[in-house]
Amino acid sequence: MKCFVCNGEMKPYFVKKIGVKYLPGLDTFEYVRCEHCGLTVSKTLYEMSHEEWSEFSYNAHKDYFNGVLKYEVLDPKWLRRIGRIDFQAGLFAELLSLGVFQYGWNTMDYGAGDGKLANEINDRTGVPWLKKFDEYMEPSGEYYLTPEEVREGNFDFIVSSSVFEHLLGNRGEVEKIMGLLKPDGIMGLHTLICEEVPQDPEWYYLLPVPVHCTLWTNKAMQIVYQKNGFIGCSYNVEAQMWLFFRNFEAWKKLNEVKHQLHGTWIFSEDFVDYWKCKPYRTKNA
Ligand SMILES: [Zn+2]
Repeated sequence: MKCFVCNGEMKPYFVKKIGVKYLPGLDTFEYVRCEHCGLTVSKTLYEMSHEEWSEFSYNAHKDYFNGVLKYEVLDPKWLRRIGRIDFQAGLFAELLSLGVFQYGWNTMDYGAGDGKLANEINDRTGVPWLKKFDEYMEPSGEYYLTPEEVREGNFDFIVSSSVFEHLLGNRGEVEKIMGLLKPDGIMGLHTLICEEVPQDPEWYYLLPVPVHCTLWTNKAMQIVYQKNGFIGCSYNVEAQMWLFFRNFEAWKKLNEVKHQLHGTWIFSEDFVDYWKCKPYRTKNA
């Protein structure tokens, strides 16, 4: 298998075994790692048919959204007061009020799930600024875009929160999302990006069910960033949110107003490779 990011050679990295639950007969997951950029993918999920993938993904997330699996346990930083969702929603509301983001933009939360993030932002701004789209989940609530409305080159801003780890890179899904942006569109990205993916089948990120199929490294994301023509990057530490700009003026404007914004901001013309420590949770995480 070749790396979909850099075309490097993917070598076996580790194997994870689970009890059969989400798809009949599926209890072993193989992971392979790129020798060049370190990107690690689930070979098992990458090689599934579309039907198997959809069923697996649906079954695995159903329990998450219907409350059988608890947000508080799986992703404790997401909804906690004050948690990541508050920082992310607050960040977008501030960028709107300072004119870095515009009210008239065509926007989308890609992979919005049950729409929690968009609802939170829209509550703060008082207008349905962020529309929602989810290919796998049924719409829940208002302001969902239909697949027909999700057209190439049509969006000023796309946010993708906890989605990139679910993408099947070998089927062009990263390019598909990037291609939805206008030529000067801004990408907002939250996913786990680390210096090196742990060689560990018991890593928390693969629990309780190993649905995360694309495990990102700084080097792999830097290549995606450059390939897609981004020229300015900003990272907000508290929101764990990267913003990728193709419009240098817009990025400079954000840099100028950063002192009026909450939280810690890191700026770079190249991808901000912020996370260098091993991505394990501490007791208090
Ligand atoms: Zn690679």
